[in-house]
Amino acid sequence: MMEKSLVLVKPDAMERELAGAIIARIQAAGLKLTALKMLHMDRAMAERHYAVHRDKPFFKSLVDYITSAPIVAAGFEGEDAVERIRKLMGATDPAKAAPGTIRRDYGLDVQRNSTHASDSPENAEKEIAIFFRKDEVFSQAFTKGA
Ligand code: UDP
Ligand code: MG
Repeated sequence: MMEKSLVLVKPDAMERELAGAIIARIQAAGLKLTALKMLHMDRAMAERHYAVHRDKPFFKSLVDYITSAPIVAAGFEGEDAVERIRKLMGATDPAKAAPGTIRRDYGLDVQRNSTHASDSPENAEKEIAIFFRKDEVFSQAFTKGA
């Protein structure tokens, strides 16, 4: 299935200048970059993006963290993009993530785990719409390399 996914390079990784390395790893795995921007999320945007976690004990701390510095948002597209990117990223807790995954290599702890990636095609559509206007997403722009 052709799918889209939204990836965020979170503040801990931004602070260590890892945005390029993380995006390059996802591209090198064969996913197509379709949208890209750096922005500083405000609390309203963070609460919308993490709405499913509203009742979790870590919600306020998560919103504080994700709004603490500029982040990079990236749209990707590819066959089974959601599952493939989640696999590249590894488990939520970097200590439990498999060797060779992005979170194992770069994550600091269960919150400062370097990346976000959509967990379903439905959520990918919703999340991409939070970060990008339609004319900022270039799904069909690069057909030669496909
Ligand atoms: N998180 C946290 N404490 C926890 C679990 C998660 O701060 O105990 C943060 C962490 O940054 C994680 C995000 O909340 O990436 C969303 O949690 P989720 O369970 O959806 O993990 P993910 O889908 O990012 O692997
Ligand atoms: Mg999640």
